[in-house]
Amino acid sequence: MHDPVYLDYAATTPLRAEVREAMLSVLGERWGNPSSVHRWGREARAALEDARSRFAAVIGASPAEIVFTRGGTEADNLAILGRVRDGGSRGVAVSAIEHKAVLATAAVLASGGGEVRIVPVDAEGLIDLDALEEILRIQPPAVVSVMWANNEVGVIQPVARIAERCAAAGVAYHTDAVQALGKLAVRMGEVPADLAAFSAHKLGGPRGTGALFVRRGTQLHPLLHGGGQERGLRSGTEDVAGAVGFAVAAERAEAERETEMARLAALRDRLEAGLRERVTGLRVNAAGAPRLPTISNVSAPGADAEMLLMALDMAGVAASSGSACSSGAVEPSHVLTAMGLPADVAGPSVRFSLGRDTTDADIDRALEIFPAVIERLRS
Ligand code: PLP
Repeated sequence: MHDPVYLDYAATTPLRAEVREAMLSVLGERWGNPSSVHRWGREARAALEDARSRFAAVIGASPAEIVFTRGGTEADNLAILGRVRDGGSRGVAVSAIEHKAVLATAAVLASGGGEVRIVPVDAEGLIDLDALEEILRIQPPAVVSVMWANNEVGVIQPVARIAERCAAAGVAYHTDAVQALGKLAVRMGEVPADLAAFSAHKLGGPRGTGALFVRRGTQLHPLLHGGGQERGLRSGTEDVAGAVGFAVAAERAEAERETEMARLAALRDRLEAGLRERVTGLRVNAAGAPRLPTISNVSAPGADAEMLLMALDMAGVAASSGSACSSGAVEPSHVLTAMGLPADVAGPSVRFSLGRDTTDADIDRALEIFPAVIERLRS
């Protein structure tokens, strides 16, 4: 029997050994409250501020521009809701392929009467810059949110151009960079976004830790009120171990980024070429767009969409899809639907995502298992 193959690194990643060590040292020795004035507090404060500086250095920001949060979801919520409250009654514009952390936040605003504009994407998942331009010109929102890299198909948006256009219109730009960090060069000096969301567990850090980059001068309203931690933007006693783990994970991911991404791109290309050969009618989604080297999203029309992931899992490959189960029926992914894929193509789709422990042998196994599963589900 083979061990199952994990190809779901975009969902989450195992903790890096160095991250675990660094976190255990904080939990064991620097467990004080960073707001306390005594020695325990000062030691915890020093560890927290060191983590902030190190994380800021990875993304080319200054430490004062980093707000630690309890994950990517909270960072997205803080960016959008915090801007809307600060920007008055003006609405938001979000791309059609955002993560639910952004889309559901926009939906809450819409249900409260806020104006929400959806920026469409083309067949490859790239946003329609003209449509964005039109929104910025006719009715400038309080904030635009377009993700750096998509979690389902891996498409990379032209974030520098989007940021420049928003800046020219005087509109704040937020980018969900959760999937980009550690895979692309994320340098906030080169992309003039005002806000950017990050999450530790996508790059070997702990779940439940994230950060929001808030460019100096960007006005933001907090969501949580209390002791005024994180410069008043995120009240609540700080998770020092989480912040330290995040900083170590981000540094390591960045140090290995170029070699790792070249290795994983080659594996991803071999996976896609092999699947195209073995599965008739296979479609690689967003294949024509700039994509993360770690994500491959494929559709196998004719296969039973409801059974696909479970059958794959039972056969020994752990992957995922953007399909959602609602009232007993499988709803195709909103990302693939926004790209114009009909339900019979978007439905039977799978996202394979590769990561640090992915080997050649894992790809061989996927190439063996996936075609056999599809054949079964088509018959
Ligand atoms: N944004 C994107 C693009 C993601 O992939 C995720 C992770 O699922 C999130 C936001 C949410 O991050 P977290 O799990 O840290 O709340």
